[in-house]
Amino acid sequence: MENVIIIGTGCAGYTAAIYTGRANLNPLILSGNQPGGQLTTTTEVENFPGFPSGIMGPELMMNMQQQAEKFGARIDYTFVSSVTKAPEGHFIITSEDGTTREARAVIVATGASPRHLGLPNEKSLIGHGLTSCATCDGAFYRNVPVCVIGGGDSACEEASFLTKFASTVYLIHRRDTLRASKIMADRALANPKIKPIWNSTVAEYLTDDKGEVRAVTLENLVNGEKSELELKCVFVAIGHVPNAQFLGDLVDTDENGYILQTKGTCTKTEGLFAAGDVADHVYRQAITAAGQGCASALEAERYLAGIGVH
Ligand code: NAP
Repeated sequence: MENVIIIGTGCAGYTAAIYTGRANLNPLILSGNQPGGQLTTTTEVENFPGFPSGIMGPELMMNMQQQAEKFGARIDYTFVSSVTKAPEGHFIITSEDGTTREARAVIVATGASPRHLGLPNEKSLIGHGLTSCATCDGAFYRNVPVCVIGGGDSACEEASFLTKFASTVYLIHRRDTLRASKIMADRALANPKIKPIWNSTVAEYLTDDKGEVRAVTLENLVNGEKSELELKCVFVAIGHVPNAQFLGDLVDTDENGYILQTKGTCTKTEGLFAAGDVADHVYRQAITAAGQGCASALEAERYLAGIGVH
């Protein structure tokens, strides 16, 4: 039986591991399908305190992993499919491969995954001209037109990054103002390669005879007009869906699926804590996720002390 299992390897998970490791709780981390979490799909992180010249996202996450391992955290590379609470009070964590692990306390730091529009052929086009990661796929689309869907910081960041490669980056947003912070919005809109398309949505992805995206059907939400826009890749940047479904009734969630914390990072189930983007729909920053990871570790430590684990 483990003292504490941490599910997730983003900023919240690794910070929880550093703290529970230093508290001699010998934490076990379960990695999920994207070890390192969302920051591994970004380039430079400019706003994580302590790095005045910025740091590359993957490097920051490697550093966090090493720091957690230095204090005794172990990592199993596995994807958790369910968590249940045994009548004795401990947790049973089951992975997709059928393996189970037991723990007295669980910290859920599973983050959030990219949201999609929900169009019929969308899922099958991932990797065929449709992606949510400019850092991963941008370089494949040199000197061709691409588009980014969305109006938040992610959309602006992706669009600005893509101008390094693409001939034109259409920024398709459903309203006529960006939701992004002023600095990111101004930077994007000042870039001559970025062409905003306001009050519009993508109604359809059109493919060529090889099944690759060749264009989208745009729908103007003000006048209902439809038009075709030729491009080679669609970058969907319309926010994220929290990864909490596998917890079933152990947690309550809000209408968007974010875990509701009762006090601090506690959830409605004793011994189960939630930290970072899986529970935070407001701030969603690397540093706030790390802060919640720290809080969840302190709360788990207190909980374990209360049941006699020191
Ligand atoms: P977000 O702020 O939630 O923005 C999502 C965007 O997608 C919004 O513009 C939204 O439109 C649009 N959208 C949502 N559903 C849509 C749909 N079905 N069809 C069309 N458009 C849709 O998400 P985000 O940009 O991923 O940012 C998430 C958080 O991470 C934010 O707190 C952000 O500040 C942070 N972040 C920070 C940085 C940075 O500082 N370097 C970089 C990236 C993200 P509406 O505007 O109409 O709602």
